[in-house]
Amino acid sequence: MRIECPHCQGPISVGVRHAGTTYRCGSCGRSFVVPEDVADTGQPHQLSVFSVASLVLMHYLTAGVFSVIYLNLLHDKMPQLRRSDPSATKAIGLCFIPGVNLIWFFFTYHRLCVRVNEQRRFHGLPETAPTSLAFAVALLTLAGSLTYLFPTPGLAVLSVLGLIVLPVFAVMVQHSINELVEQPAVPAVG
Ligand SMILES: [Zn+2]
Repeated sequence: MRIECPHCQGPISVGVRHAGTTYRCGSCGRSFVVPEDVADTGQPHQLSVFSVASLVLMHYLTAGVFSVIYLNLLHDKMPQLRRSDPSATKAIGLCFIPGVNLIWFFFTYHRLCVRVNEQRRFHGLPETAPTSLAFAVALLTLAGSLTYLFPTPGLAVLSVLGLIVLPVFAVMVQHSINELVEQPAVPAVG
């Protein structure tokens, strides 16, 4: 990506992996933090349209497993703007590590919404990916994990999560993506 040195205004070409890190300008020798908010500099996303009806069908046919995998796969479809943006392999893998996953769900769904919203913003669209619902999904998953201690409320929470909250979240994310993909591409710079 191409940015401008905030000290000498000289043009600088830095890798996306430098976003959010301190970088030393080769011209003036002074240091600055590379902005994270730079995906509109020619790093196109690879998101694609997926029918929300198919998504809902697959969700119920697989008892929610499809949604968990599908949503986490989306992390590989957008340019990495921060070092903490996970790959799909990492995002999916951590979903299946008991204990760790309960923490991970709070991060991965929220960050997914942030990344989708960034792409939407770069295309001049409102930020509709549901970050609050991402938090609700993670919270209900955490609460549902207590099923073995409190079977009745635990199963009720898991039902609400699996039957309503998670599919609604997946549909809202996919709807945000479908609308984005149907926009004309932003021309690459540099
Ligand atoms: Zn400089």
